[in-house]
Amino acid sequence: MMGLCSGLVAAYRLRKSGVRVTVFEAEDRAGGKIRTNSDGGFLWDEGANTMTESALEASRLIDDLGLEDRLQYPNSQHKRYTVKDGAPALIPSDPIALMKSTLLSTKSKFKLFLEPFLYEKSSTRNSKKVSDEHLRESVGSFFERHFGREVVDYLIDPFVAGTSAGDPESLSIRHAFPGLWNLEKKYGSLIVGAILSKLTAKGDSSKKGGASSGKGRSKRASFSFHGGMQTLVDALHKEVGDSNVKLGTQVLSLACNCDELSASDGWSIFVDSKDASSKELAKNQSFDAVIMTAPLSNVQRMRFTKGGAPFVLDFLPKVDYLPLSLMVTAFKKEDVKRPLEGFGVLIPFKEQQKHGLKTLGRFLSFILEPT
Ligand SMILES: Cc1cc2nc3c(=O)[nH]c(=O)nc-3n(C[C@H](O)[C@H](O)[C@H](O)COP(=O)(O)OP(=O)(O)OC[C@H]3O[C@@H](n4cnc5c(N)ncnc54)[C@H](O)[C@@H]3O)c2cc1C
Repeated sequence: MMGLCSGLVAAYRLRKSGVRVTVFEAEDRAGGKIRTNSDGGFLWDEGANTMTESALEASRLIDDLGLEDRLQYPNSQHKRYTVKDGAPALIPSDPIALMKSTLLSTKSKFKLFLEPFLYEKSSTRNSKKVSDEHLRESVGSFFERHFGREVVDYLIDPFVAGTSAGDPESLSIRHAFPGLWNLEKKYGSLIVGAILSKLTAKGDSSKKGGASSGKGRSKRASFSFHGGMQTLVDALHKEVGDSNVKLGTQVLSLACNCDELSASDGWSIFVDSKDASSKELAKNQSFDAVIMTAPLSNVQRMRFTKGGAPFVLDFLPKVDYLPLSLMVTAFKKEDVKRPLEGFGVLIPFKEQQKHGLKTLGRFLSFILEPT
């Protein structure tokens, strides 16, 4: 297995099922894009700063790791901002707030509420940027058909930028939001689909006698941990076992000891490592299976062989990774005169262009109580 923290989660689950695992990680630290730092009494995350329990697996993981007591919720969870006409604008959190908000024009509000009657059916609309041969519709085109362009520019664009640093035209709706894609397939209208599936889910959960996971916590709430996101990584690392995680060990190539006819006789892994014992282990051991969780760009740099012959991974899709710079600013509480509230602000691309704002957004980590 290689790569963290997806790799650590996979290793943790396998270990729990009694499987022996080894995790190879190129860097000298565990966590990958999750990295918590501290200095001078400040603590900040340089990668992911919060997560949600929208997926059942996330809730289960937190409960299994016994991290419930270490969860840390922002104090203004629902105050999220975007930018309209160069100034911060609160993102409406319910239909009444949306009606009152000036974020969208009256025309867009009508289009939103009348979506069950006005939405444009799925067609042959293709996005030039989404490369999947069969399922080309982009997130932007999908939402435009349902709610109009302004909703894409001021609600979808900042959301997509905030969660994937991408733009709505370069993401495939089917892969980025499979739930919504299925909702359209089933109901046509997203509003009707959302209402009906919520009612069905409510009925199911009352039949089952309440929430099935997450011990009653809100699935949509964002949270971090006391000690930052690194707390999650450290808990996983501990459970997988230090001796099973080979840090500073970069996988260079993999050889599947099989041919077209015979079943796999295991994998040989070739690594570069400062630690001689990790090198030895990889050299002398055969692995039954490999789970690859390194970014695709790193996987594409590795060499693969099958039955001694080079094996080209030409089925891997081309993925553009967007560059992102991160700036951390810290202020003493007494120097900030305004009330400390708000989860963060995300700047729509349209506003970035119009007002020369070269920032994707800003996460306000003071929303998390000091540890
Ligand atoms: C600035 C920023 C903010 C983010 N904010 C959020 C957020 O608030 N909430 C959220 O849910 N997500 C957020 N994300 C996304 C989230 O951090 C990532 O989706 C997640 O961390 C990816 O984890 P991963 O294990 O799949 O990949 P990575 O974290 O990229 O880990 C891959 C690992 O593979 C290792 N590796 C690569 N090549 C090799 C090799 N040859 N041999 C061995 N190891 C190798 C790398 O060293 C790395 O440790 C953010 C990302 C960034 C960059």
